[in-house]
Amino acid sequence: MNMARWSVLGLFLSFGVGAFAQAEGIALDGRMEQGGLVFGTVPPGTQLALEGRAVSVSERGRFVFGLDRDAKSSAALEAKFPDGSVTTQTLIVAPRDWIVERVDGLPQNTVTPDPETVKRIRAEGGMIVAARNRTEPLPFFETGFLLPAEGRISGVFGSQRILNGQPRSPHSGLDIAAPIGTPIRATADGIVSLVHDGMVLTGKTIMIDHGFGLDSVYIHMNEINVSVGQRVRQGDVIGAIGMTGRTNGPHLHFGISWYGAKLDPQTAMAALPAVQQAVE
Ligand SMILES: [Zn+2]
Repeated sequence: MNMARWSVLGLFLSFGVGAFAQAEGIALDGRMEQGGLVFGTVPPGTQLALEGRAVSVSERGRFVFGLDRDAKSSAALEAKFPDGSVTTQTLIVAPRDWIVERVDGLPQNTVTPDPETVKRIRAEGGMIVAARNRTEPLPFFETGFLLPAEGRISGVFGSQRILNGQPRSPHSGLDIAAPIGTPIRATADGIVSLVHDGMVLTGKTIMIDHGFGLDSVYIHMNEINVSVGQRVRQGDVIGAIGMTGRTNGPHLHFGISWYGAKLDPQTAMAALPAVQQAVE
């Protein structure tokens, strides 16, 4: 949150756990930790499932999945190889500690909404969930992820949030504070899956589908330059920073998710860096 007077009550630096494992045909890379992005390769034609949820595998055998902020300490990755053999690998998920952030000066009706507004918030949340559950079978995420705007990091992923003095859900993304009008770029290749002109909490909102269950979200925008279904390239300008929705100052809230799992954009960008620099 830009201009938020937030205090850090506890700070724990979580050093990324580079997870490099190879077992029975599964090569894993990325961050095996809460909020982490994991990717790797298997023999093409392998079927994969994480905790029972199918994980898409590309023609070249590439796959990606995410571990939620609140992921348990282990997760089962099942593989059925083209020769019919089956293996289950137990992944050890490193825990993280989360800071507490206080944000004040938010419009009170977005913190303690009236019943009509609650209904709207639920309906709008449903649109976001529906967009997360639709995904392209194309591995756009292979471009890696770039920071979508230049600015000051004013809020980190996973923090416990106290909004106008009241405990609320953990922070699901990364906040980048910059003046209204600062360009926002697509973090990776993809297809625009949601555009909304004014949600109660998120204001002007864009979601991009990066394939295989990975999505990015851009909220509190001032201006939107894309429409649903549009193919975007990594680094394309998709809009501009604003202060719409539940915010007390101009900033971009940038989120990455794998289906319902919220991932830490900073560790995702470190695990799978952009293949190109943003260009005008
Ligand atoms: Zn935010």
